[in-house]
Amino acid sequence: MHGEWIRLADEVLSGRPLTRTEALGILSVSEDDLLELLQGAFRIRAHYFGRSVDLHVIANARSGACSEDCAFCSQSKVATTDIPVYGLQSPDTLLERAREATRVGARRVCLVTSGRAPTDSQIELLAVAVKRIREETPLQICTSLGMLTERQARRLAEIGVNRYNHNLETSERFFANICSTHAWRERWETLRRAKAAGLELCCGGLVGMGESDEDRVDLALAIRELGVDSVPVNFLDPRPGTPLEGRPRLRPTECLKVLAMFRYVLPDREIRIAGGREACLRSLQPLALWVANSMFTEGYLTTPGQGWERDRAMLEDAGFHPGQRTWA
Ligand code: SF4
Repeated sequence: MHGEWIRLADEVLSGRPLTRTEALGILSVSEDDLLELLQGAFRIRAHYFGRSVDLHVIANARSGACSEDCAFCSQSKVATTDIPVYGLQSPDTLLERAREATRVGARRVCLVTSGRAPTDSQIELLAVAVKRIREETPLQICTSLGMLTERQARRLAEIGVNRYNHNLETSERFFANICSTHAWRERWETLRRAKAAGLELCCGGLVGMGESDEDRVDLALAIRELGVDSVPVNFLDPRPGTPLEGRPRLRPTECLKVLAMFRYVLPDREIRIAGGREACLRSLQPLALWVANSMFTEGYLTTPGQGWERDRAMLEDAGFHPGQRTWA
């Protein structure tokens, strides 16, 4: 219907929350109407963020050997994927990664560890790295360490971490299909503890695992209910050696619809194009910038991205620029 998505975008901008039915409608939009849907999403994005793109760099601070069995993850106890396995990296190594992030104009470095939950001694080791990154770079710091106790969440806030990442991954209903070693509710509780401790929340999910449109929408609505600040949207790039290795990748246009749904549901939140960007969006990658206002650069946890130089060319070609900071 001509003009439908622009009108809906204007209603969202006037402060009316998107309904579940409307969110489902976005995911089933015809491909003939996709550009208008994206135009509406851009109207919302531009209102809050202009043409800026926040760049984030991941530091895989502890890799592999996880006790959990998340079906998508090459670091899980059931995966046979050939990945690097190492314990917590030194403050020097993490600082060097943060310096790289600074060089490419990133706003934030995200220190990520594999595993169900951090130990107190791991948090104290990270505290040394966080202190040095804060002293020696202009970056904001996010950590993603698994499940937290209330005390650990408060400690992270004390040591200068700005934001905590913990993805809900999918709907509560679908989660048991992809993980048996912990429950979706445990993830939810960690997020509530992080928020109560004063940390900003980063929480998103992974699409393409066999979930339904309802699961995707319910994930977005759960994220809205939690009051999340930043929403990484990952697209499954099936890893060999994981239980999901045989799943087909989503089509690029389906990825764009998912991103648009998140934008309409969470109009003023940071929506980040995350893992699987290159593999799933393929030649349509730049179009995602009209919807999302944030992206990772310089790779993901266990897979490389297309590299900063190509990311930079893509941003420049599409007429977007990094948020606040500029590259060298
Ligand atoms: S997603 Fe996290 S908790 Fe799950 S297997 Fe991977 S590292 Fe472990």
